[in-house]
Amino acid sequence: MLSAADQTRLDALYTSLSDASQHFLGYPCANDLDYSSLFRFMQFPINNVGDPFQSSTYRLATREIEQEVVHFFADLFNAPVNDYWGYVTNGGTEGNLYGLYLARELHPKGIVYFSEETHYSVAKNIHFLGLRHIMIRTQGNGEIDYEDLKESMCLHRDVPAIVFANIGTTMKEAKDDIRKIQSIMDELVIRERYIHCDAALCGPFAQFLDPKPAFDFSEGADSIAISGHKFIGSPLPCGVVIARKRYVDRIGRSIGYIGTMDTTITGSRNAFTPLILWQAIKQWGKAGLQARLISCQEVAAYTVEQLNAHGIKAWRNPGALTVILPKVSETIKNQWQLATQDDHSHIITMSGVSKAHIDALIADMIKDAE
Ligand SMILES: *Cc1c(COP(=O)(O)O)cnc(C)c1O
Repeated sequence: MLSAADQTRLDALYTSLSDASQHFLGYPCANDLDYSSLFRFMQFPINNVGDPFQSSTYRLATREIEQEVVHFFADLFNAPVNDYWGYVTNGGTEGNLYGLYLARELHPKGIVYFSEETHYSVAKNIHFLGLRHIMIRTQGNGEIDYEDLKESMCLHRDVPAIVFANIGTTMKEAKDDIRKIQSIMDELVIRERYIHCDAALCGPFAQFLDPKPAFDFSEGADSIAISGHKFIGSPLPCGVVIARKRYVDRIGRSIGYIGTMDTTITGSRNAFTPLILWQAIKQWGKAGLQARLISCQEVAAYTVEQLNAHGIKAWRNPGALTVILPKVSETIKNQWQLATQDDHSHIITMSGVSKAHIDALIADMIKDAE
């Protein structure tokens, strides 16, 4: 039993989170969740330790559910039917680390190319792995500058290329085109190559965009990572990574040599988050994900239109859910949790953000300007 004071503390936290959830426009996390039907699974010490596709004596697990989640996203990303593997991660960062880890095992001397608007976690991941890297300029829309990439690759034609592509950058939701990147490598005859797609933000809906960005396995990706707590909206941070199985088998073997068979980065793994992702994909299927995208895009379009109508220069990349606007005041930034970097802020219209929220934000901006 908690003391009355501790209970009061929790009640106050609950009230403050309820309020903050109604002023949550700047981070790409859906906010329309109800996974309460899964609460009963909280009474078991479930743990998916190890490889999701290998049986274990630890049977308090949700591995089969996790496998179904992996199959769903592998199919969504056009992974080769008999040559994929994956698992439910702690989030996009772990999936990105996994992709780079595979790339390093395959090309230990490779150079990682990534754009300057890449998520901050990549620098840390590359540092962990001790990989060489080159940062590439971006275009105004946040997409990698292919000319700069070509020049850099040209100087290192003798070194394997590891491309870390963004399928939705953090600030502008820009997508790098892995087809264009491959034609650069073709032209330079760089045959030893690896492409990882950081699809933390857009992975769950990128297939439904028109035009569809080039990012999946049929278009040349070797691994893809997504976040599960962003567009899908898991209340617990999580993600999925999918990779070509023959690459993972090489890592599995090398670890088997030192006596363990685990293929994942962490030991103990969350067995609850696969249930959340499973419930989401079972409820929605591909059609539901697409419908979710369309309603979010409607709110994004409304946001640009309303901001422009009020004289605020806002824009978004085609089809994107991220609306970029000139840097807002400290008051507005804190009030609405608007991520702000350099001279701009952004609003992300994930599920749970309604036109009414946008109207309220604009009213506050007008008041603040006065
Ligand atoms: C959120 C995000 C990440 C990191 O994902 P986490 O799930 O927070 O670990 C990486 N890259 C991009 C583009 C992101 O938007």
